[in-house]
Amino acid sequence: MPGVVIIGSGPAGLRCAQTLAEAGRRVTLIGAEPGLPYNRVALSNYLAGDVDADELITHSAQRLEELGIELRSGLRVTAIDRSARTLATDSGETIAYDRLVLATGSQPFRLPLPGADLLGVLMYRTLAEVDAMLATARQGGRAVVIGGGLLGLEAAVGLARRGMQATVLHAVDRLMERQLDHASAGLLAQRLRAQGIGVELAAGSVAIAGDTQATGVVLKDGRVIPADLVVMAVGIRPETGVAREAGLTVQRGIVVDDQMVTSDAAIQAIGECAEHAGLCCGLVAPCFAQAEIAARHLLGEPVAYAPQTDATALKVAGAGVWSGGEIDAADAQSLIYADPDGAEYRRFLLRDHRLIGAVLYGETGDAAWYKSLLGQDVRALRSKLAFGRAHAEKELAA
Ligand SMILES: Cc1cc2nc3c(=O)[nH]c(=O)nc-3n(C[C@H](O)[C@H](O)[C@H](O)COP(=O)(O)OP(=O)(O)OC[C@H]3O[C@@H](n4cnc5c(N)ncnc54)[C@H](O)[C@@H]3O)c2cc1C
Repeated sequence: MPGVVIIGSGPAGLRCAQTLAEAGRRVTLIGAEPGLPYNRVALSNYLAGDVDADELITHSAQRLEELGIELRSGLRVTAIDRSARTLATDSGETIAYDRLVLATGSQPFRLPLPGADLLGVLMYRTLAEVDAMLATARQGGRAVVIGGGLLGLEAAVGLARRGMQATVLHAVDRLMERQLDHASAGLLAQRLRAQGIGVELAAGSVAIAGDTQATGVVLKDGRVIPADLVVMAVGIRPETGVAREAGLTVQRGIVVDDQMVTSDAAIQAIGECAEHAGLCCGLVAPCFAQAEIAARHLLGEPVAYAPQTDATALKVAGAGVWSGGEIDAADAQSLIYADPDGAEYRRFLLRDHRLIGAVLYGETGDAAWYKSLLGQDVRALRSKLAFGRAHAEKELAA
């Protein structure tokens, strides 16, 4: 008897499989990557040498067996036959399903630059890619990371900690511009430079230099930044190939309703491959939430997905950096606390007395509290907001 088949053994697919298996449903989890499921978010900690490869594994073979999840790793689904309810795979095998969940995630975007496919140009998405970076880093040399967003910075810090001379090239005039304002981004750039990491802003890349192996990155101002390794971390695109070919409705991602059901009632989509209310997610928390909703809907529970405000933290820069909600709201009021020595910076954006965004640089211990305040009326906390939860609660109680 076919049961639920999930394509993609990343965090979304695995969470959905686990919730279904714990409720006694038979689940087959098909993943194109080899080996056991691992924690993609912790790849930056692995690259930086803070955790071993073994510690990345989230579910051992024994745990999967106990749960009753059949993992088919190293197997890629190449086509979905919706009328026969079967999947074709790159091994030639045909797999039947009753219900199908697509959790195919995203592909890193490869800038279409001359030389982008040279040896030594890597993306930053999979364990295999990080292992390839580590193999190069063992010989030392120079690494250039294209992209000064969260992933690019984590890649640069990790490679620097592995002994490479790292430089980040960012096309925009401030780092992590979607999460940080100019002041906090400036402090972060200063901190990275103090760690010996090069930071080039407003530095558009136009080509990768080299014949077969990358030897540098050519900037639009004509400079060439030498490199033995080039890492591109410039964004992601939902992986929608098999869904699109099967005739499901796909815009940027695979279009789903509040129960994560696609345009075919027998097929759901979750995680970064899915598009809900016009938005595709790029963080792991909404992927987990969607996975739970999909599983609970399959189990017959009345559930509906409601997106939460995004928040992100930089993991390995040696400085606390956290940001949540709207950062670039021109119509918002800002409350700012800035220590002139540059160690602490906090900014809170308010609209109609509600906290709509926050940036913390330095002390980030109260990030979860600030996240819980997003969207709330903070009039009573206004003068205390910048000084953290303990202070605010003490003052309010007084
Ligand atoms: C280095 C790094 C650090 C990150 N750090 C953070 C962080 O700090 N915080 C945060 O919130 N998020 C972070 N993220 C993002 C987070 O990892 C993603 O949001 C999350 O992995 C998305 O989960 P997913 O299951 O939707 O997709 P994925 O993790 O991409 O998993 C999809 C899986 O499906 C497989 N697949 C695709 N097509 C097929 C097919 N046809 N057949 C079989 N298998 C297929 C893929 O090979 C892949 O294994 C980070 C990402 C990276 C790369």
